[in-house]
Amino acid sequence: MIRPETGKLIVDNIAATHGIWKGRGILIVEDVESNYQFLAATLRKSGASIHWARSGAEALRLINENEGIDLVLMDVQLDDAVDGYEVTVELKKIRPELPVIAQTAYAMKGEKEKSQAAGCDDYLSKPIRPSELLRTISRFL
Ligand code: MN
Repeated sequence: MIRPETGKLIVDNIAATHGIWKGRGILIVEDVESNYQFLAATLRKSGASIHWARSGAEALRLINENEGIDLVLMDVQLDDAVDGYEVTVELKKIRPELPVIAQTAYAMKGEKEKSQAAGCDDYLSKPIRPSELLRTISRFL
């Protein structure tokens, strides 16, 4: 399916992602390694360059240093003094146009409103399904 407003292809299965995001960079901000591995595996076939930050400070350092990041998947619950929403606010000061997709905790009330208030462009509730992840990313890349 192609979105008429952007002309972008909506992709929702791994088989259809073959090479479509080659040359694009995705930063995954996630403190739990197994969660990162799952997201990276889901995105592998797309050909995107995957960067991993375990903390907010690392995420901001990578954004400052790396011009090749085109989208951020932001875990909102970080093992850190700052949460993913605070990191998003700082990140948007550096690169306002960079799409940020929040990964929110399952069944937490008000996460949609909090993610919007922080400047996130969209959000996904954990546990994240591959189809939802790909469909959401394909709206921005
Ligand atoms: Mn977390």
